[in-house]
Amino acid sequence: MKESTLQALSRCTVCPRACGADRSGGNPGFCGAPLQPKVALVSAHFWEEPPISGEKGSGTVFFSHCNLRCVFCQNHDISQENHGREISIERLAEIFLEQQARGLHNVNLVSAGHFIPQTAEALEIAKKNGLTIPVVYNSNGYESVEGLRMLEGLVDVYLPDFKYWEDELARTYSHAPHYARTAAAAILEMRRQTKEDRIRPDGIMEKGLILRHLVLPGHYKDSFRVLDWIREHLGEETYVSLLNQYTPMYQASQYKNLSRRLTTFEYEKVTEYFLSIGLKNGFVQKRSSATSDYTPIFDLSGVESADTFQNRKE
Ligand code: SF4
Repeated sequence: MKESTLQALSRCTVCPRACGADRSGGNPGFCGAPLQPKVALVSAHFWEEPPISGEKGSGTVFFSHCNLRCVFCQNHDISQENHGREISIERLAEIFLEQQARGLHNVNLVSAGHFIPQTAEALEIAKKNGLTIPVVYNSNGYESVEGLRMLEGLVDVYLPDFKYWEDELARTYSHAPHYARTAAAAILEMRRQTKEDRIRPDGIMEKGLILRHLVLPGHYKDSFRVLDWIREHLGEETYVSLLNQYTPMYQASQYKNLSRRLTTFEYEKVTEYFLSIGLKNGFVQKRSSATSDYTPIFDLSGVESADTFQNRKE
C-alpha cells in the first residue's frame, strides 16, 4: 500500500462523516471499513441502466460496509452486517482486469466511497497493466469533494444516487446529516470531472454522469425537489434514472410510509413532473422490478479467483 494511501487513512476524512478514524492503525470509524479493500461479490450485472449494462453486462464489484445506514437497504448484509472478504490492493487491480477479460462493458465499482484511496491505487495499477474499459463509480451520493478528487482521471462514468431533498428524511431513513447539500456538492464535482456525456454507437456510456433517484412511498413530493435541483444546476439534458424498485426490506417495516411498495400513482406523478419541468433524458423502470429477486446474492463469487465468477444473467 502506498504511503499516501496509508496517510489518507490515518485520520480518515475520505467521506463527509470525516470521523478521523485511524484506519491505518487498525481502528475503523463510523463505516466500520478496514484498511484493506473488502469485497463481497464480483459479477456481471444486467439490470443497470442500458448504457451501463448493455448486451454483455456490467462488471460489478460490490464493496462491503457503507457510510450510510439506510433502514430499507436491500444490500444490508454487506453494507451494515459487513459480509465480505478483505483483499490486497493488487488483488483488487487483478479483479478489474478479470472483468475486462470476461468481455464486460465496464468495471462498475459499487459503493467504494469508504475505500477511495485504495480503489484509486488499484485503478492506477490496473490501468498500467492494460485496463481500458470504462470505469463506473456507483455511489450513494454521500461523498466528499476531497475524496472524489482522488478519483479524478481514473473514473469515466459517475452513477450517483440523489436520494433525498429534505434533511429530515435523510436523517430518519439513512442517519445522514445534511444529505442534500452534501450530495449536491459531490454531484457537481462528478460533473466537473466528467464534463460531458459520451455514448458510443453501441449504446454504452464511455464518459459522463447518470443520476439515480429511488422514489419512496409516501414521499413523491420530495422527488420533485430533487428533480428541480437537477434541472436548475445540471440542465435539461442530464441523464436521470427514476427507480421504481422500492421494496420494503431490512428495517423498513418499522416506518409507516416505508412498509409498503410504491404505488403506480406515486411513480407516475414523478415521471410526469420530470417531463413537466423540461428534463429530457430519463430512464424509467417497470413495476416488476420491485421485488427482492433483483437483490444479488453476496456469496464472494469472483473475490478470490476467476474460477468462482458467476455470470448472473438468469
Ligand atoms: S470513510 Fe469511514 S472511517 Fe472514513 S470518514 Fe467516512 S465513515 Fe469515517
